[in-house]
Amino acid sequence: MTRSIVIGAGILGACTALELLRAGHQVTIVEPGLPGGEQAASYGNGCWLSPMSVIPPAMPGLWRKVPGFLADPLGPLAIRWRYFPKVLPWLTRYLASGWTEARVLRTARALRTLLQGSPALHAALAEAAGVGHLIERRGLMYIYPSRTEFEAEAMAWRIRRQVGIDWIELSADELRQREPELDRRYGFAVLVEEGGHCRDPGAYVAALVALAEAEGARRVMARATGFRIEGGRLRAVRTDAGELAADQAVIAAGAYSRALAAAAGDAVPLETERGYHAMIEGVEVGPRTPLMPSDGKMSVTMTARGLRCAGQVEIAGLKAAPNWKRAEILRDHLIGAFPALPRDLPAERVKFWMGHRPSMPDGLPCIGPARASADIVYAFGHGHVGLVSAPRSARLVVQMLTGQPTEIDVMPFDPRRFE
Ligand SMILES: Cc1cc2nc3c(=O)[nH]c(=O)nc-3n(C[C@H](O)[C@H](O)[C@H](O)COP(=O)(O)OP(=O)(O)OC[C@H]3O[C@@H](n4cnc5c(N)ncnc54)[C@H](O)[C@@H]3O)c2cc1C
Repeated sequence: MTRSIVIGAGILGACTALELLRAGHQVTIVEPGLPGGEQAASYGNGCWLSPMSVIPPAMPGLWRKVPGFLADPLGPLAIRWRYFPKVLPWLTRYLASGWTEARVLRTARALRTLLQGSPALHAALAEAAGVGHLIERRGLMYIYPSRTEFEAEAMAWRIRRQVGIDWIELSADELRQREPELDRRYGFAVLVEEGGHCRDPGAYVAALVALAEAEGARRVMARATGFRIEGGRLRAVRTDAGELAADQAVIAAGAYSRALAAAAGDAVPLETERGYHAMIEGVEVGPRTPLMPSDGKMSVTMTARGLRCAGQVEIAGLKAAPNWKRAEILRDHLIGAFPALPRDLPAERVKFWMGHRPSMPDGLPCIGPARASADIVYAFGHGHVGLVSAPRSARLVVQMLTGQPTEIDVMPFDPRRFE
């Protein structure tokens, strides 16, 4: 039996472990934290299962805004000065990948193949793990003050149309009927019916890992540090708790994957786009369909734990302390968007969280074999779309490890595409 080790138990690791079990492998999951825990981006994200999230973060003309990113530490995208020299090569590639509409369209086409149909894949996984209630498929909505602000994003919506995404436009009255508690400054909306959401991503990941363990996977609480490779074949994964013998391994350590990829022979330009959430617990007020307000570029979702607002991009590396003012901005946005929320919220009812998106400059993940050994496959770098794209990414990884043809073209996700 092939002994496979999955490094990391975020959503990518959890889905990959399950796929490997289905392929008949003997699976070990190596993770220093608790599956579904706050250390993972998979815990605190925006909960969106959005097959329409095909537009990469960088768009044509973004370079003009870079001085603003540096000047305003609380803007929706901020770069910490001290980190700027370090991130400059990544930032250059990031801006270049969104330089023209043609490049953005190319990225969108690749992402679409990865994301299409994903809410149904999640629903099936959740059902198998006994948490079917955590996945809802009731659409996702983008809201705007008026049609003018929607038209200001014409390029993004044109590209979405070109890659086969449909939507329904809602007037102010229709929006009011669907979302009676939403502030009246929003008078236009776009509903994407194929979208869904997860009501509790942390609990979902924990349930998937529990299912993997019930199906025979072993979990080792340790940190992977490298590999023992002999003659191009993987012999063992090195961890801070000793070596684990292995025939194959998958690197799914999210934003922490760069050092592991280096140990497997690749210098990948992986960065962290830090993000935040503010969550108000124990409230009934909120949207019926998850929303993204155009004036905040953050997701607002009613979760099983409370009303969550997630977003922000902060480029400051893996080590810098969180800037909780950013989470306060998210909280204040929630209160502004839903006037019926109590103004005098006690501090213990508002939870703040910061996490690390594992981001490649072009908004596409790394899914492919390592240079040092094809026994090691990468499953990281999913940036803003890691939750939604995990099930299909996991299938691709296992198709690669088992020598089957991949179900979609994996060239765009080649770990060495920047060389
Ligand atoms: C604010 C915010 C909002 C977001 N909103 C959405 C959204 O709405 N929809 C969406 O699709 N995506 C969203 N994302 C992105 C998504 O959360 C991530 O892309 C995804 O969670 C990445 O999953 P992962 O498994 O690769 O990494 P993670 O979830 O970070 O998991 C990596 C795991 O690896 C472990 N690890 C680290 N180092 C080692 C090591 N050396 N050895 C072993 N284990 C290790 C960590 O402890 C961690 O548990 C959002 C992200 C943020 C921050």
